Amino acid sequence: ENTQLKDIVAHAKEYGFVFQSSEIYDGLAAVYDYGPNGVELKNNLKRLWWEAMTQLHGNVVGIDAAIFMDPRTWEASGHVAGFNDPLIDNLDSQKRYRADVLIEEKAAEYERAGDPARAAALTATLGRLLTENDLAGVKQLILDEKIVDPLSGSAKWTDVRQFNLMFSTQGSAVDSDAPPVYLRPETAQGIFVNFLNVQKSARQKIPFGIAQIGKAFRNEIVARQFIFRMREFEQMEMQFFVRPGTEGEWYDTWKAARRRFHEAIGLAPEKLRFHDHDKLAHYAKAAVDIEYEFPFGFKEIEGIHSRSDFDLTQHQNLSRKKQQYFDNDLNPDTGKPYGNYVPYVVETSVGADRLFLATLCQAYQEETITEGEGEEQTTKTRTLLKLHPALAPIKAAIFPLVRKDGMPEKAQEIFDSLRFDFRLVIEDKDAIGKRYTRQDLIGTPFCIVVDGQTLEDDTVTVRDRDTREQTRMPISALRAYIGERVSF
Ligand code: ATP
Repeated sequence: ENTQLKDIVAHAKEYGFVFQSSEIYDGLAAVYDYGPNGVELKNNLKRLWWEAMTQLHGNVVGIDAAIFMDPRTWEASGHVAGFNDPLIDNLDSQKRYRADVLIEEKAAEYERAGDPARAAALTATLGRLLTENDLAGVKQLILDEKIVDPLSGSAKWTDVRQFNLMFSTQGSAVDSDAPPVYLRPETAQGIFVNFLNVQKSARQKIPFGIAQIGKAFRNEIVARQFIFRMREFEQMEMQFFVRPGTEGEWYDTWKAARRRFHEAIGLAPEKLRFHDHDKLAHYAKAAVDIEYEFPFGFKEIEGIHSRSDFDLTQHQNLSRKKQQYFDNDLNPDTGKPYGNYVPYVVETSVGADRLFLATLCQAYQEETITEGEGEEQTTKTRTLLKLHPALAPIKAAIFPLVRKDGMPEKAQEIFDSLRFDFRLVIEDKDAIGKRYTRQDLIGTPFCIVVDGQTLEDDTVTVRDRDTREQTRMPISALRAYIGERVSF
């Protein structure tokens, strides 16, 4: 229960889940690489999300838009100042974010200095002030803590309106005066600008959704807490286009559906909560975060936003291309079709990396195991990843009991007969106990042991990661046994 983030970070590195980017050069801040087990876990999370969106719903289709977009996109979205600057109304949330960053950094400093109690107290005070939306209190806290904002270089809180979080790069290989292109800070805009392309080509009728998984980039000012806040990360977003007036129902529907998803992949219900935004952007009708209780407290993993027709209207204004839909359905009040309108949007947006971190924190467990009775009784602890089998990087490990007597060949035979169905590994080194331990550490749900009896009757034992119980079954039963348990 007392798992700390540093345990997770160390585990993730040691067992090939997450490495610091460019580690041999001392690492690039807030950028991370996924190792052999990490990429499998992350792909499994993305696949489950993708299926939950595009397979479980007949009216949600996917796209894969480019990272680079016309720079005007970011004027329309409000990420760079243009003819219309929606961020001005968002001042409070910008300030809150900035304060959060500064104070969390101070807390990290206390932690590094060996004073975790002071760090925790500071984080708790900040949490309370932000919950109460007491911005004056936050300002005082910053003064009391003598926090220097590197943006202003003085012990005060910078009143900068807008922090440009976007990375840019040269837009043209030949023309050095060409405007820069940005690395998208969110995947949503690739969906908005393709709204009509998708609606027409996929012959969708409102209500329908467009889903996308892809990289996003934000030059986060202070990035800590491992893969919680990265400069390069991956988002899984779905924009659901609805008839104006129905957005409330759809907001509630998606809010519930998204929470069910997180529970289904194994996040504990008591570690999940909704956090309603008290301050809304002027265009937003409603916004809620789904928060997960990380070792460093409840933090956002997903946002669900009722965004009105803001985004499509902005693009319509700036591009001068109509972003309307003709709704043939009859309005019961008038007896006529609803006709042309700019649809409203309900958005769900989750970070693949944050979900990965939540999944890892949830799965990481240290268990005390008592074995034997009376005088013989021993206790030991084991560390394991209790991942949902659908998420596990390796579904089953096959162990020949000894490296002779035809057991390795039998293990290979089993591997070959199942490798089209599951990701497997053969492990023949060390004692069986050690091999179980290694698989527990990476979350493999099943270990199949080939022993002397296997050679006589074609049965194996299957050891369950969570219960440690072993069941003997025919080799021919493995596909169904494992298949049933690793499905979602
Ligand atoms: P935060 O307040 O934590 O910065 P946000 O409200 O800016 O997040 P959104 O813009 O709503 O986040 O993005 C949706 C999701 O994308 C977030 O819920 C989170 O899971 C993920 N996300 C956003 N920024 C980052 C980041 N820097 N690193 C990793 N994931 C991120």
